[in-house]
Amino acid sequence: MATNRTFTMIKPDATQENHIGGILSMIEEGGFRIVSLKKVLLTPERAGQFYEVHKERPFYQDLVKYMSSGPIVAAILEKDNAVADFRTLIGATNPAQAAEGTIRKKYAKSIEANAVHGSDSDENAQIEGNFFFTADEQF
Ligand code: GDP
Repeated sequence: MATNRTFTMIKPDATQENHIGGILSMIEEGGFRIVSLKKVLLTPERAGQFYEVHKERPFYQDLVKYMSSGPIVAAILEKDNAVADFRTLIGATNPAQAAEGTIRKKYAKSIEANAVHGSDSDENAQIEGNFFFTADEQF
C-alpha cells in the first residue's frame, strides 16, 4: 500500500560538516513535509541491524563502521509519490553520477559517504521509519 511517506537519514559526513540545515532546506523546498525528526548516534550493532539487507554485499562492514562513526539525522517525510520523488531529489548513489540540483550532487563526498539515505520502496519506508520512531512520534 502506498503511504505517501518515505524515510531518510542525513549521514555522518553531512552532519559533521554542518549540512543538516542545508539538506533539510532542500527537502522542504522539494515539497516534502517533515513528519518526524531526530539526531541519533547509532552503535555498530544498530547500524548493522538497519543495513541487514546488505549483509552479503562486500561493503557491508565498511558501511556499518561509517554509519556509526558520527551522528545521523533520521526523518520521516511526506509528499505525494514520496519514495520515488525523494529518490529523484537525492540523486544517484555515486555522487559522480548524481544529476545537477540533487542533494548528493551538492553534498556527497563519495559512493559511501553520500550524504543521505532514501528508502527504495513503500514497504521499506515503513519498516525504516518504525526502526527510529514510535507511533506517537509520527505525526
Ligand atoms: P542507495 O539506495 O542509493 O543508498 O544505495 P544502496 O542501497 O545500493 O547502498 C546503500 C549504501 O551503501 C549507499 O548509500 C552507500 O552509503 C553504501 N554503498 C553503496 N555502494 C557502495 C560501494 O560500492 N562501496 C561502499 N564503500 N559503499 C557503498
